[in-house]
Amino acid sequence: MKTVLVTGGSRGIGKAIAKNLGLTCNVAVGYSHSKEQADEVVDEIKTAGGNAIAVSIDVTDQNSVDECFETVEDVYSSVDILINNAGITKDNIFPRLKQEDWDSVIDTNLTGSFRASQRAIKGMMKNKWGRIIFISSVAGISGNTGQSNYAASKAGLIGLAKTISKELGSRNITSNVIAPGYIETDMTSFLNDEQKEDIIEQLSIKRVGKPEDIANMVSFLCSDESEYITGQVFPVDGGLTT
Ligand code: NDP
Repeated sequence: MKTVLVTGGSRGIGKAIAKNLGLTCNVAVGYSHSKEQADEVVDEIKTAGGNAIAVSIDVTDQNSVDECFETVEDVYSSVDILINNAGITKDNIFPRLKQEDWDSVIDTNLTGSFRASQRAIKGMMKNKWGRIIFISSVAGISGNTGQSNYAASKAGLIGLAKTISKELGSRNITSNVIAPGYIETDMTSFLNDEQKEDIIEQLSIKRVGKPEDIANMVSFLCSDESEYITGQVFPVDGGLTT
């Protein structure tokens, strides 16, 4: 059975990804602050008949990333699939954006994925098999008002994923990007009903996204059925970017 590490697996989209993959893989549910919620996700996976552990990982800290991988490798022997899901926002219009908010969003969303991916490919290269999925955003494709730092970090993931796909495809390691649109989680909970209606107005499918919509795409990209797909960007956005 393959083993997956989901960064930010305790809440929102990461939780749905962890639970879906728990049906077919051993799951390491990564958490940075939300340990209790990560433990609950582990319980839910086990109740459904799967194998899971909660593991601490702060993607802004290389030591934490390394320790996390060592823990997962001790328990399940390898990390075969990495889901780079951890992400934050610190929004402001560009003229007012503080450099500290630029730095922290880039460090978490982009450099954090670099840290975890570089550590992950060590084992994947040895095993000549791996799957890396980057959770980007439609903001990384189209930009978004008030999110220059976030959009830049998410666009950066696309370049990173495509380059990894070229360098490591010959080792059976695929690297793909999912670009969610508006998905109902803690990250988007600040939007009021009127703002949500405005968003739905722009969509072809007239509802907001659910974390499960993203998790289903992740499961496909981790399956044997997707072995010939690499270096691609998949919007899952109800038609927002068409
Ligand atoms: P949430 O805010 O609900 O969850 C964010 C997750 O990231 C948490 O599990 C959190 O873990 C983790 N995290 C934050 N900082 C760190 C860190 N330094 N190290 C490790 N983990 C960290 O967000 P969503 O579930 O909505 O988003 C998940 C991903 O999807 C993000 O990358 C986001 O940018 C992307 N996305 C979301 C969209 C949406 O509409 N919701 C749209 C497009 C993309 P903990 O609580 O343990 O700190």
